[in-house]
Amino acid sequence: MLDPGRIMERCEALARHSELPGGLTRVFLSPEQRAATDKVLAWMREAGMQAKLDAMGNAAGRYEGNRPGLPCLMLGSHLDTVRDAGKYDGMLGVISAIECVSFLHSKNKRLPFAIEVIGFGDEEGVRFGTTLLGSRAVAGIFDGQVLKAKDPQGKTMADALREFGLEPDGIPRLARKKGEVLAYAELHIEQGPVLETEGLPVGVVTAINGFSRLRVTLRGAAGHAGTVPMKLRRDALAATAECVLTVERIARGHPELVGTVGRLEAKPGAINVIPGEVMFTVDVRAPQDALRNDAVSKMTSEIRRIAQDRQLDCNTETLQEFGVTACAPRLMEQMDRAVASEGFKVRRLPSGAGHDGMALGAIADICMLFVRCKGGISHSPLESITQDDAAAGVRVLMSFIERFDGLSA
Ligand SMILES: [Zn+2]
Repeated sequence: MLDPGRIMERCEALARHSELPGGLTRVFLSPEQRAATDKVLAWMREAGMQAKLDAMGNAAGRYEGNRPGLPCLMLGSHLDTVRDAGKYDGMLGVISAIECVSFLHSKNKRLPFAIEVIGFGDEEGVRFGTTLLGSRAVAGIFDGQVLKAKDPQGKTMADALREFGLEPDGIPRLARKKGEVLAYAELHIEQGPVLETEGLPVGVVTAINGFSRLRVTLRGAAGHAGTVPMKLRRDALAATAECVLTVERIARGHPELVGTVGRLEAKPGAINVIPGEVMFTVDVRAPQDALRNDAVSKMTSEIRRIAQDRQLDCNTETLQEFGVTACAPRLMEQMDRAVASEGFKVRRLPSGAGHDGMALGAIADICMLFVRCKGGISHSPLESITQDDAAAGVRVLMSFIERFDGLSA
């Protein structure tokens, strides 16, 4: 039997591994991450899988098909969290996938393909500022330069991996070849309000929106807040205010476009000093690459014009960029049938948030199933789902696995 009660209990159990007492913060390669990963590996083994910690800190389990060594259907999600996170974003997908394998194992059932479940060690990118580290390694698109990235304490990723007992040289060997992975399917909470608004427990994802992340630095001149006349100022923060509104205005220009200035640091940061330098970030997302690229170039040129008008130096830097990852039509159809077979209305919707499937898309067709979450809230202690919806999600995932027909691809 699929046991949604156990899924909820396991989400609670993982949430106890947190660096923040009374809340949930679990970052890549932390002691809390080790404890949570060990738990997941034990659940994988209990579900009849061979399971190990891989060189990137992913919990990787494999359930052989009706003969050993067959290509796999890969299932998974991530085990790291943002700061002060919820208990379901990431973890629900890993635990639900293990539940499905456990069901097959209890029936002694083998399929004409293997199933692999991966709990990715890093998706959120909190510690080193680069996202999707675990899934990039598995997809063979991990950039070795990132090993030099430092966490806020100044420790490099390579050193953090070694302290975790992992060997960075082993990362390239994690890359799967095309053909070894028939498809990647991920169950994840919606992180938006669409399913709740429409009274539906699950939805089938059409595509993961692409994103661009920029860092902008504006440099003017610091000066005394009392002595420098207004017309002689080169105030980097006042210019930034214009830039923030410009990003908002351009993003509002299209219903499917979103743009956010989420971080801002003004220097020197004193009540009586004109801000001489400001760094701010811009995050832009859209379901079409052309729409996003167009918005980013408009924002960048407007920001440069604002800087020029105010005689500031302006430096813009692209931190990260990812194109739209479309879900495979044949997998969406199979997921639709799984949703319908469990008695739910089929609803398709795009994903505004990024997911591990963006990386796995490099080597395999992908699809995703969204599960309704309360108020559309995620990345917050208020994140919540009902046990009934966890049940709906795992039943649909199980039905998808049973009808998966990746072999004809
Ligand atoms: Zn997530």
